[in-house]
Amino acid sequence: MAGRTGPDDDGAGALTMSSCLPSILTVPEAELQAFFRDNGEKSFRRKQLQEWLYRRHTLQFAAMTDLPGALRLALTERFADCSSTLAATLPAPDGTEKLLLHLADGEAIEMVLIPSPGRMTFCLSTQVGCPVGCRFCASGRDGLIRNLHTHEILEQLYHGSARIGRLPDNIVFMGIGEGLLNLKQLLPAITMLIAPERFGMAPRRLTVSTSGYVPGIYELAAFGRELNLAVSLHAVDDATRAVLIPDTLRYPLAEILAAVDDYQQKIGRMATFEYTLIEAVNDQDSAARALARLARRHHAKINLIPYNATTELFRRPSNAVIRRFAELLEAEGAKMTLRLEKGAKVAAACGQLRATHRRTPAATE
Ligand code: SF4
Repeated sequence: MAGRTGPDDDGAGALTMSSCLPSILTVPEAELQAFFRDNGEKSFRRKQLQEWLYRRHTLQFAAMTDLPGALRLALTERFADCSSTLAATLPAPDGTEKLLLHLADGEAIEMVLIPSPGRMTFCLSTQVGCPVGCRFCASGRDGLIRNLHTHEILEQLYHGSARIGRLPDNIVFMGIGEGLLNLKQLLPAITMLIAPERFGMAPRRLTVSTSGYVPGIYELAAFGRELNLAVSLHAVDDATRAVLIPDTLRYPLAEILAAVDDYQQKIGRMATFEYTLIEAVNDQDSAARALARLARRHHAKINLIPYNATTELFRRPSNAVIRRFAELLEAEGAKMTLRLEKGAKVAAACGQLRATHRRTPAATE
């Protein structure tokens, strides 16, 4: 796999770009304790701060009204609270809402709030742009701009929670970016999400999605938490995958499936195969039968996603073809859900909102 290494990051994300102050979200516990001690504050003040951050989902120091003014000022001088801002919202008639967030360096990312009966799911981004460059996806069109830092990944949660007044029931890391190429920042974010003294979410409520980045799947298995794994197969053979995904970061199907088996063995969670259904590329009856066989053999569920066109290169199949493909999967004994893409009517495919709202970087403003 020479030449297929993932972009790395030095972990300097503890500093927010706007202020060069460390983010309050990622400051080490010992440093936080020292801050309260040095400021002559009792330990219950630290608990109050954590209550705001992790139970009341409030990140702005100014809004933490039961902290004394002097303490809020000291916090502001030493730490950064929220480095990103909500720049636009795009609601869809089906209740889905896309948020465009501006980052401190002028870049932009998207997240999506996806309601369904009895639950709310947030779809979060992990990178600005994406190095994988799937040919059907708007997010990868300009390549990778940079990795998101841990605090930027988590700040999406605050922006979303502010819209609904609570934490989501589920989180899927399926927005902009290939999350497994940014595990250095994503894993600390996940660790905080599942830590009982922080956000306290059950690991099985979190799903990490990948385009099939094999080293990342093994690394996620070694992380050892009961996270859901979603793998974007999009095709049942390497030749068809090559039509959709450039070869730089595309791994052979056999290697991907071996990594999925390893993940399931170690973690004990059923994987999901994401399959974007595209006209005359991967929507044949033979593909449906082969996909069902793969899913059965690898104990995976299939999430069928009819393509939501972001380019003229590819088209969505007709409803009749979509229905037939889904029926064939079921007839072949595969566990399957058909995701009639929420938000499609408002151009909600990942990366489209960001592509139309790119901002001048803050440094040049
Ligand atoms: S589909 Fe996912 S992995 Fe592929 S380019 Fe888009 S964001 Fe990246």
